[in-house]
Amino acid sequence: MSEKLSKSDTIKLRNKHIGQACQLFYRSDPLKIVRGQGQYMFDELGNRYLDCINNVAHVGHCHPKVVRAGSLQMATISTNNRFLHDELVQCAKTLTSKMPGDLSVCFFVNSGSEANDLALRLARNYTKRHDVITLDHAYHGHLTAVMEISPYKFNQPGGEPKPDYIHVAPCPDVYRGKFIDKEHPGADMAQLYSAPVVEVCQKLQSQGKGLAAFIAESLQSCGGQIIPPPGYFRAVYDAVHAAGGLTIADEVQVGFGRVGTHYWAFETQDVVPDIVTVAKPMGNGHPVGAVVTTPEIAHAFYATGVAYFNTYGGNPVSCAIANAVMHVIDEEGLQENARVVGDYLLKKCREFSLEFGIIGDVRGAGLFVGIELVKNRDTREPDTKSAHWVVNRMKSLHKVLVSSDGPNDNVIKLKPPMCFNQENADQFLQAFRECLAMLVKEGSDAHFMVGAAAEKSSGATMFESHQRLIKSS
Ligand code: PMP
Repeated sequence: MSEKLSKSDTIKLRNKHIGQACQLFYRSDPLKIVRGQGQYMFDELGNRYLDCINNVAHVGHCHPKVVRAGSLQMATISTNNRFLHDELVQCAKTLTSKMPGDLSVCFFVNSGSEANDLALRLARNYTKRHDVITLDHAYHGHLTAVMEISPYKFNQPGGEPKPDYIHVAPCPDVYRGKFIDKEHPGADMAQLYSAPVVEVCQKLQSQGKGLAAFIAESLQSCGGQIIPPPGYFRAVYDAVHAAGGLTIADEVQVGFGRVGTHYWAFETQDVVPDIVTVAKPMGNGHPVGAVVTTPEIAHAFYATGVAYFNTYGGNPVSCAIANAVMHVIDEEGLQENARVVGDYLLKKCREFSLEFGIIGDVRGAGLFVGIELVKNRDTREPDTKSAHWVVNRMKSLHKVLVSSDGPNDNVIKLKPPMCFNQENADQFLQAFRECLAMLVKEGSDAHFMVGAAAEKSSGATMFESHQRLIKSS
């Protein structure tokens, strides 16, 4: 096995040389992962963990076809994209063949942050405007420009203040957002949630500023696995276009078949964005991303006369890997697998909700699932403590890795590799059920006290460490 140092030496070196702002999962008892295979990760002692977190290892950790494609290309040539290379053009061809409409031009980058940063540049250049609408709780990356459109970050204590040219619209969360289903029975939730976007568009127009772009994840992940009401994006896109702005779909987490019914999550809302950003799953762990747009928008960028050069973006190794990933998704029917296994997970979790009052809501699409834990179903008061407790117990007792997220950090979040099968779903369900049953029997407070004492001795409160647990992943 590939452990070079003892776990305690690894921790010591990390504490000494890695910036403290780079936070670990399971901070009080971090995992040392030494290898991965398919939907499993293995620690230094050989313990096997079921990975329900890693949407990056999209087709499975260390998929042999992806590893082979990358190593072969690395042993052949890796250079920048100013030389002709077949992997680059084939990657662009395959990626755009998966896109609807006129989305036929690619820019290759190295990460989701870079992709969103470039998308903003394309939109601002095309519209010659600067203002952008983003959604509350959104996360679009860690670069300066994309932090500005990430309320998930700038709303944290110590976050940079929101600039005036960024406008935050409510996240279309019908369970816990500004407009909730039970208070608006029978209402058109898409209309309610799109109205604030329409308002901003109209205001910007009346001020003569206009709008550069509206950006949103097609299903908001950091917001707590949010499924927008049907018709939401259609109404928003119409308003944005009427105001002369462009629409950007961030598919960094939810793209490449994860939602099961479609290859891209925006397709579930029957819209075609002007710009799509992709990354994470595209490289199965290797850093690669892309911005896909129309020839018209790409041409306007070219017409500025300022060339776009990105040293590693689109290098032959990244493209060979992305080509292998897209090939494996199709060859192994992983989109369909996400649909079938995702439906099964949702059905079973909804059955649990009949038995366990702590489950307030179960939502999802394919292998993108959120289970919201509440103290009281009527008031929907979030049960953050129990969510944290479940995350820890799932790991330590059941060797199942899940995370929590959402504005209250009370949503158990599943976004496993796409090879996650029914047996894996059953393993998760059995472990989750045991946790829920324990919560019913003893309540999270008793467990929380035990955990809090342990955390105190490690120098952080349980709450603090969980707050930092799995942010921005
Ligand atoms: N967009 C979304 C929706 C993300 O979840 C992330 C990463 N968590 C990013 C953009 C940024 O991607 P990266 O970390 O690859 O820069």
